[in-house]
Amino acid sequence: MEFKVRSYRFNPEIDDKPYYKEYIVQDFPGMTVLNALMKIKAETDGTLSFRRSCRSAICGSCAMKINGISKLACKTQVSSEIEKFGMIKSNPLFNMPVVRDLIVDQEIFFDKIKKIKPYLLGQRDNEEYHRFHVLREGEKIAQPVYHKSEFQNLTGNDDAPNCILCECCYSECGGVVGNKNYLGPAALAKLYRYSEDPRDNDKNGSRLVNGSQPEGIWDCIHCQACEEFCPKGISPVKAITKLHEKAIKNSITFSKGAKHIISIAKSIGETGRLDEVKVAADTGGIAGLINDLPMAFGAGLKGKIPPIRLKLIKDMDDIRLAYKELDLEEK
Ligand code: SF4
Repeated sequence: MEFKVRSYRFNPEIDDKPYYKEYIVQDFPGMTVLNALMKIKAETDGTLSFRRSCRSAICGSCAMKINGISKLACKTQVSSEIEKFGMIKSNPLFNMPVVRDLIVDQEIFFDKIKKIKPYLLGQRDNEEYHRFHVLREGEKIAQPVYHKSEFQNLTGNDDAPNCILCECCYSECGGVVGNKNYLGPAALAKLYRYSEDPRDNDKNGSRLVNGSQPEGIWDCIHCQACEEFCPKGISPVKAITKLHEKAIKNSITFSKGAKHIISIAKSIGETGRLDEVKVAADTGGIAGLINDLPMAFGAGLKGKIPPIRLKLIKDMDDIRLAYKELDLEEK
């Protein structure tokens, strides 16, 4: 069967603007999108540029947009794309500048990964390190040896260590679309993975404190795209939610996001209702309230005036019970 590949092309050295070029490819059983692109490059157009390496969904190099979704080209079957879309449309990943054709500049992504300090901090002298540390005969210091289940326990999340840094989640992230400086799902999932590792000696919680700064864990918009499109089945959004819980438990509550959550929990715990004025004041302070004035005025004109004092809801006992069960009373 023959099928059509429509690929984004852009060479900044010779092209004024991007364009699409179409190719007809003869398929073979089990052909992947990467196979198709390599066939085009070998037989039809040697100038088509894209990254690839392992061809086994391990290195993450061949991530690109395929029919609008960020995927690994080596893991994507031509037949299933043709069945759904009738052709293959390839584009570079989103949220990163294009270097050439399907190749993006990864610097911004890896700079964000570096910011969360993706390595064990401090001296490796804590109890957990020694518990898993196996010395070979005659050795004074050896690398730790782990069984898979032990490693998963160490990192607090079964999936996060499987990240291949392919950038699919970053390309699909709505938080990055809204704020180019937002650290993004892969970096924050990695932050969680290291913050849970008991071998780590980040005694002052510096990773979590840094991650709580603007553009960090509280800037996730919970669009869930990272979980939906990760080719390795990782859920960065779940890791980010766990980081929220961890920050509050460790009293790292200087950020607006943490203040917002605490105020909402308090308001519901006290009355069963959301005191919007109080939540806005607790979150943004006087400056935040002043900023919100035009919106409040507009809402008031439409008859949405918040009550001065909130009445308790009639099932308040249920809320109190739920808070007790969740151990939220003191938060
Ligand atoms: Fe790729 Fe998943 Fe890692 Fe994001 S979390 S970089 S999608 S492997």
